[in-house]
Amino acid sequence: MDLEKKVALVTGAARGIGRAIALDLAGQGADIAVNYRSREDAANEVAEKIREMGRQALPVRADVGDEEKVKAMVDRVDGQLGGIDILVNNAALHRGGRVQNIALEDWDLVLNTALKGAFHCCRHIIPIMIERKWGRVINISSFAGLRGFPGDTAYGSAKAGLIGFTKSLAKEVAKKNITVNAVVPGFLKTDMTAPLFNTEDKLKSELTRIPMGRPGEPYEIAELVSFLAFKGSYITGAVIPVDGGMGM
Ligand code: NAP
Repeated sequence: MDLEKKVALVTGAARGIGRAIALDLAGQGADIAVNYRSREDAANEVAEKIREMGRQALPVRADVGDEEKVKAMVDRVDGQLGGIDILVNNAALHRGGRVQNIALEDWDLVLNTALKGAFHCCRHIIPIMIERKWGRVINISSFAGLRGFPGDTAYGSAKAGLIGFTKSLAKEVAKKNITVNAVVPGFLKTDMTAPLFNTEDKLKSELTRIPMGRPGEPYEIAELVSFLAFKGSYITGAVIPVDGGMGM
C-alpha cells in the first residue's frame, strides 16, 4: 500500500456501492470527498463513519451531470482536502424502457449522469492529477454495458460508453503515472436493483443467471476499487468484472 496520504473523491457515495467504496478507501487510509446529489442525511452519516476511522471526510453536493456544479465541487475538495488523487466515477441512475418507448428525458438523464458525469469529473480532476504526477481513476460500469438487456438501451449505452471512455482516457494519461480502469459489477441488491428482487420469483430468476448463485455485496466491489487505487500500479485500461461468474 502507498502510505502517502491520498485524497479520494467518490461520486454517489451516500448509499449503495458508492458508500461501500468510500468506507473501504477510508479504511485503507484515504481522506474522502463524499459526493451526493440528494441524500444529505446519508452523506453526513458516511462522513461521520469516515471521521471515526481517523480520516478526513467532506460531504459535497453536486449533480455530476452539471459541469458548473462539478467544477465547484472539485475546487472545494481540492482546496479543503489538499488535492485529489483518486476519482471513483460511481454515480448513476437507471431508467428502463424499450427503444420505441423510453422518454427522451430519461435517455438524456441516464447518459448525462453515468457517462457525461464521469467526463465532467475527469475533465476537472485529471489536470490536478497531472500536476501531482499520480492519479487513479476507477469507473463503475455494469454488466448491462457488456452484454445488454432488453429495456436497457439507455443504461447499457451509458455503461458501454464508460468502457470506451476508460480505454481512450487510459491511453491519454498513461505516461503521466495515472491509471484508468473500469470495474464491471454483475448483480447486487441495492436501491437501484430493488425492482428486480421485489418478489421471491423475480429474485430467483435473477439468481439463475449467476453461477455463484447469489448477488454480490457492495464491499466486494469496494475491495477491487481499493486494490486498483492503492496497489494496481501496472494495471490500466482494464475492464474487470466482479459478477459471481455471470460473464463466463
Ligand atoms: P444506488 O443505490 O441507486 O446509488 C446511486 C448513487 O448515485 C446514489 O448515491 C445517488 O445519489 C447517486 N447519483 C445519482 N444521480 C446522481 C447525480 N446526477 N449526481 C451525483 N450523484 C448521483 O445504486 P448502486 O446500485 O449503488 O450503483 C452504484 C454504481 O454501480 C452505479 O454506477 C451502477 O450503475 C453500478 N452498478 C450497480 C449494479 C447493481 O446490481 N446494483 C450492477 C452493475 C453496476 P443520492 O443518493 O444523493 O441521490
